[in-house]
Amino acid sequence: MQSPDRPQTFPLPADLLAILACPACAGSLGENGEALRCAQCGVEYQTTKSGQPDLRLRAEKQATITFTLGEGFGGTESVDWQPLRANPHPAVDFSALTVPNHFTPELLSHFPKAPTPGAPMLDLGCGTGLHRAVCERAGFFYVGLDYDNPQAPLLGDAHALPFRDGSFDFIISIAVLEHIRHPAVMLREAHRVLRPGGMLIGSVSFQEPFHEISYQHHSHMGVWSALRQAGFEVLHVAPGWDGLTAQARMALLPGWPAAAVRVATAPLWLLHRAWWWLLGKLRPGWEELRRRQIAAGAFTFIARHRS
Ligand SMILES: [Zn+2]
Repeated sequence: MQSPDRPQTFPLPADLLAILACPACAGSLGENGEALRCAQCGVEYQTTKSGQPDLRLRAEKQATITFTLGEGFGGTESVDWQPLRANPHPAVDFSALTVPNHFTPELLSHFPKAPTPGAPMLDLGCGTGLHRAVCERAGFFYVGLDYDNPQAPLLGDAHALPFRDGSFDFIISIAVLEHIRHPAVMLREAHRVLRPGGMLIGSVSFQEPFHEISYQHHSHMGVWSALRQAGFEVLHVAPGWDGLTAQARMALLPGWPAAAVRVATAPLWLLHRAWWWLLGKLRPGWEELRRRQIAAGAFTFIARHRS
């Protein structure tokens, strides 16, 4: 586990100041002591008690999204739906780095390398900033943003990101989308601040129970559709841990050690696997991928900015 991250302190690095923008009006932000002031609308963004630049909206803002209709059920042909496999040609060597355990070797093998050393990347919903070391190993300038975490480098709202268009080459957003009140708005914002061709890697709840104010959990089709609508080319939507374990760990038996949960759910799990094995023999279409998709607790997605 990485050590806790820290708020971004003043004076801000020039590389960060260059990509910041007012979340209300997209105007330029300039330093004004330990605050940031919008040159266009005049709103001043103060720091929090823990010293973070607080770039959350100061007033309500309207957002309008245009949806494309009439697409029918097609368009999923180019997506890889399988559980994530290791990329045979990883861009970055993460060996000898201690990584958070939700970063599997398979997922890390899909991480891009910074196109130029110090190119900015965004950890959208960064929590304590525990992904910093991984992103810096890939050569990026780490920009972590969270709505409400005293250790996050920056505070901001995923619905109104405080960055200029096309600021980032890479965005990660791990277990965040279900906590966003209007996911389509967040994904449109992620698309806006990403450069054409930039990568988005993230995950979202499906059958995990309600947790920590989660609004909208996504099926594999749901996350594909949301990403595509926002302007992304969807490369992978991979089933993660199973929903039975998620329900047991988070709702049925919260607080139990993982090993005890495994023992408690083992009879049902074995019955489930045996029945699906039999279904696979008896009925066409009841294959392992279908089981993984409909029983998943969460999905991991990899997408590319399509301009
Ligand atoms: Zn402004």
